[in-house]
Amino acid sequence: MDEIDPEVTSPPLHMTPDEFRRHGREIIDWIADYWERIESLPVASTTQPGDIRALLPAAAPEEPEPFENLLADLDRVIVPGVTHWQHPGWFAYFPANNSPPSVLADAVSSGLGLIGLLWAASPALTEVESHMLDWLVDLLDLPDHWKTTAGGGGVLQGSASDATHVALVAARHRAAERSTQPATQMVAYTSAQAHSSVEKGANVAGFGVVRLIETDESHAMRPDALASAVQADLGAGLVPAFVGSTVGTTGTTAVDPVRATAEIAIEHQLWHHVDAAYAGTAMICPEFRHHQDGIELVDSYVFNPHKWMMVNFDCSAFYVAEKAALTDALSIDPPYLRNTQSDAGNVIDYRNWQVPLGRRFRALKLWWVLRSYGASGIRQMVRHHVAMAQELAQRLSEDSRFEIVAPHPFSLVCFRCRAADASPAAHDAADSATDAIAAAVNDSGLAYLTPSKLDGRSIIRVAVGQSRTDRSRMDMLWKLISEAAV
Ligand code: PLP
Repeated sequence: MDEIDPEVTSPPLHMTPDEFRRHGREIIDWIADYWERIESLPVASTTQPGDIRALLPAAAPEEPEPFENLLADLDRVIVPGVTHWQHPGWFAYFPANNSPPSVLADAVSSGLGLIGLLWAASPALTEVESHMLDWLVDLLDLPDHWKTTAGGGGVLQGSASDATHVALVAARHRAAERSTQPATQMVAYTSAQAHSSVEKGANVAGFGVVRLIETDESHAMRPDALASAVQADLGAGLVPAFVGSTVGTTGTTAVDPVRATAEIAIEHQLWHHVDAAYAGTAMICPEFRHHQDGIELVDSYVFNPHKWMMVNFDCSAFYVAEKAALTDALSIDPPYLRNTQSDAGNVIDYRNWQVPLGRRFRALKLWWVLRSYGASGIRQMVRHHVAMAQELAQRLSEDSRFEIVAPHPFSLVCFRCRAADASPAAHDAADSATDAIAAAVNDSGLAYLTPSKLDGRSIIRVAVGQSRTDRSRMDMLWKLISEAAV
């Protein structure tokens, strides 16, 4: 070994505690200013590919730079390349709201710098998380047996896609206990309108077959089509192992019939996972809970507080009805992770509930949001968004130039220009007119929505759910749509 140089030491921390306090205040000021001026910025970034990279030096700095330079580059380099998800004119995809308490909690989480791989690695991280997930069971009227204090349990994942992936892994593990067939013979079912994460998760989990089940006129999965597909696969010697249903699909917020799907799943021993990534938050209001009828019969469930609950990304709540079904599939116990509390079995080690080992303190922001707004504040926000979406739907349905293309049970409205007649040429013209409206609205910089396709035809999705959106912005949106329509 080379001789050790006793002069070599770590570099000093970049800031003294006082400098950190000063720059921390500057950053909080910067964020507050950004939120104050966000309305004056165009919602979507207009930069071209490569523009932002061209502003960055070709190589990393050899020498340290002062913090002032970093701060200045937020406005010079970053803001021009930002599409503003927190803008009141945000109607694209689904919302991904943050909120002041959530952002502050994330700063604390970064300051603490924990990796909660085991209960013992930071007991507060695990216990606050379990407790928040149990709170949500009550707030959203989910089954009591999903509580960590009962046989089930909740865990925060980074995304709904991660949650669906581990549900598929658990499903595969359970099916392997009753069948000697390899995973390549296992079948996962979901609706043709399900989020792509189901198909991706099934591929990653090694399922041999993924069947996209037909939907009805409301774009919800047809239980009869599911039952027929399962029967056909059993007849062909395959192993039906998983079904994913969706409460609030990405395309149109269609609601699959959870109870009818659960009955088929129970009959054929399929793991039944429900994806309510966006619509789950609405269940905090009792008037939406009929959409999750039958939820007590399913094996797992995911919804994203990071979409519509004012908790900033990433925070995805995942529940299993039986925790052993998940941990049996994911637990591995190397000697360096063993400890007295885990061995005694009286603590939760969330590393066995997810694919990665390490995990951030995400529950802190959920806790702070729930305390800062209370359930009543979140209910009020949801109802406000739903009311504004229904008002937009009303305007569209009263105007003969437009047609609404799907039911709108929550706060997403999907519409298109009405075709002059039933001919393909008239539908093609309506497609072009619909695409032109989306382009005009998005180019305005005042609002941003998602052009999409449904049944092969152009539609526009308007997702109302940004916490800053108010009726004046809805009026502005309506004016933009109306003026761009022929
Ligand atoms: N499932 C549904 C129904 C969604 O709408 C989305 C995203 O919009 C997802 C899953 C994926 O969410 P995530 O980005 O958290 O993986």
